Amino acid sequence: MCKSRKPVTEVFGSNVFNEAVMRERLPEDTYNALKKIMSGNLPLEPAIADVVANAMKDWAIEKGATHFCHWFQPMTGLTAEKHDSFISPTSDGKIMMEFSGKELCQGEPDASSFPSGGLRATFEARGYTAWDCTSPVFIKEDGDNITLFIPSAFFSYTGLVLDKKTPLLRSMDALDKQAVRVLKVLGNKTSNHVIATLGPEQEYFLIDRVFYEERLDLMLTGRTLLGAAPPRGQEMDDHYFGTIHERVASYMNDVNYELWKLGVSAKTQHNEVAPAQYELAPVFATVNVATDHNQLTMETLQKIAVKHGFVCLLNEKPFAGINGSGKHNNWSMVTDDGINLLGPGKTPHDNMVFLVILSAVVKAVDKYAKLLRASVANTGNEHRLGANEAPPAIVSVFLGEQLNDIFEQLAAGGATSSKQGGEIKLGVSTLPPLPKDCTDRNRTSPFAFTGNRFEFRMVGSTQSTSGPVFVLNTIVADTLAEIADELEGAGDVKTAAQKILQKIATEHSKVIFNGDNYTDEWVIEAEKRGLPNIRTTVESINTIMDPENVAVFERHKVLSKDELHARTEVLLEAYSMQINIEAKTMLDMTKRQIAPAVSAYSERLASAANSVKTAGADPASQVAMLKEVCSLLGSLNDSIKKLEAAAEKASAVKDAAKQAGSFKDDVIPAMAAVREVADKLETIVDADIWPLPTYAQMLFLK
Ligand code: ADP
Ligand code: MG
Repeated sequence: MCKSRKPVTEVFGSNVFNEAVMRERLPEDTYNALKKIMSGNLPLEPAIADVVANAMKDWAIEKGATHFCHWFQPMTGLTAEKHDSFISPTSDGKIMMEFSGKELCQGEPDASSFPSGGLRATFEARGYTAWDCTSPVFIKEDGDNITLFIPSAFFSYTGLVLDKKTPLLRSMDALDKQAVRVLKVLGNKTSNHVIATLGPEQEYFLIDRVFYEERLDLMLTGRTLLGAAPPRGQEMDDHYFGTIHERVASYMNDVNYELWKLGVSAKTQHNEVAPAQYELAPVFATVNVATDHNQLTMETLQKIAVKHGFVCLLNEKPFAGINGSGKHNNWSMVTDDGINLLGPGKTPHDNMVFLVILSAVVKAVDKYAKLLRASVANTGNEHRLGANEAPPAIVSVFLGEQLNDIFEQLAAGGATSSKQGGEIKLGVSTLPPLPKDCTDRNRTSPFAFTGNRFEFRMVGSTQSTSGPVFVLNTIVADTLAEIADELEGAGDVKTAAQKILQKIATEHSKVIFNGDNYTDEWVIEAEKRGLPNIRTTVESINTIMDPENVAVFERHKVLSKDELHARTEVLLEAYSMQINIEAKTMLDMTKRQIAPAVSAYSERLASAANSVKTAGADPASQVAMLKEVCSLLGSLNDSIKKLEAAAEKASAVKDAAKQAGSFKDDVIPAMAAVREVADKLETIVDADIWPLPTYAQMLFLK
């Protein structure tokens, strides 16, 4: 089946109120004013907002929209929307379609049920949304409903931040301000702004929907809580970059078209390491737009899956024993006149701006390693970090051969040369000699320099990219601020800069590791170096309120102490709630599906033993099987009781940190015990009786 599609060039951005649409539909002076407003150089006046709103409404209505909504990102990490139609009744019993500047700029949802981490009591329901004009307004088609979406920030009546967007925007400002200071003092005369950029690689699984419908764990928790290892996993390495199966390819094609309409520049797609695992990466954008686009990507991946009879699993660890899913955050900084500040150039050793920026990042990652670790701490990622497909929980930086050499030269007093890549000759007359990068890749590092950007690989696949990025922006802004302070006060900037580079290369070299992060030796070595290794989500969240973290957020006006505290409460509560749901789901499945199936199987074995005996043969084998099954059923029931008790105990704890601790220490081990017996039973119970689709079915049926 070949669908006739419009050309991609026509489709791309067709549902976005983008630059081209603005230029076409706005009066010239309004367009010029809006451009200034979007770059932060002019406040938004009501008169301008009215003109812009009207143009947006006309454009949206022409595209079939009946509603608009402020689209925001509460601390759940998901997106939220409340639709209002454009209709306004008139005195003659008819309607007009209206949309004012005020409606564009501000919304007031009764937002009492979003997590606030204690920033607001439920009875104080008022929350506001405010138009974020730096991320384009777009139209979304959901079924027959067509709606104008307005990306927005979300905050409380008292002005406290309740969302993921505001700290991200604030952190962008902080980074901009400090990076520009450094650029200016180093002699840059052309750049006025520095913008953080992000390209998130989204990993996901696709399984047939029929299996999903038969598994309560997938429906309620997004991951399998039970399931024996299949006879075949990912050991053949045959899925990674393998031929994309037709059904999956058609799905990807639909996903791309949907995303392109929304202006999301979906670019790369391929099979990932685990069976049934895939990846999509867009072309990078400013961190704010990229974060919005990643939310749309996650939503679209799930929405289109249903149309193809698939379910898209975004969870960090849907299946035990094979790779989980991450979301590598490729991050850099670019000036408004197009200089990539992490672009090393041909001879990085004499590229002072690059060396200073690079050193600022290395220092920030070393100094705030715990904060970066906490920015990726969620329930799903706990199963991923430190398992041997994901970077370990130890934060370290990979620089690669060339930059590592330069860093060593800096520590020794100054860099005078850059190792060059050379050529690769394959000894085949028809293949040309190819340029070789000056550095190999390292797939195991949690924070790797990859040629012109850093790739933060610890981020989980379900996560909003906002958290990891606003942490990164803030801590780098902080080290840049320190550097700017020193350089601005120095008589001879060049000498001062050399001194700073030497100091950073000496004091922070401990965070640099270019070897295999998956080995046990690295864990021991990292401990010797004094690098933190925070293995669990709860321990990691509990480091967020450390005084140096509160201070760095307050210094750069990204989050106040109260706002940060609220966030830790939300994270801890989310952890407890999710583990509680997982425990209850596991109990439901084991009590109502597994135990009855095992019991039915024992009945079958018992009657088989009796029949065999009556027929005059020796029933020893049947009896032996029966005994094993009965004994395992006994263990299953015991472990179920223990899990019930653990979940009850944890649920009764009041304090958020203590409660999360109890879920970690009491409930998770109790769940592991239940799973161990249930998975054992799966390997011996009659396949016809086993009530759940198996790993082999879910992972290998395309
Ligand atoms: P990999 O080979 O590491 O899997 P991909 O091609 O899948 O890489 O993804 C790389 C991502 O990095 C893309 O989203 C790309 O746009 C992004 N990227 C490239 N340059 C930059 C940059 N300067 N800033 C941020 N992201 C970038
Ligand atoms: Mg990739």
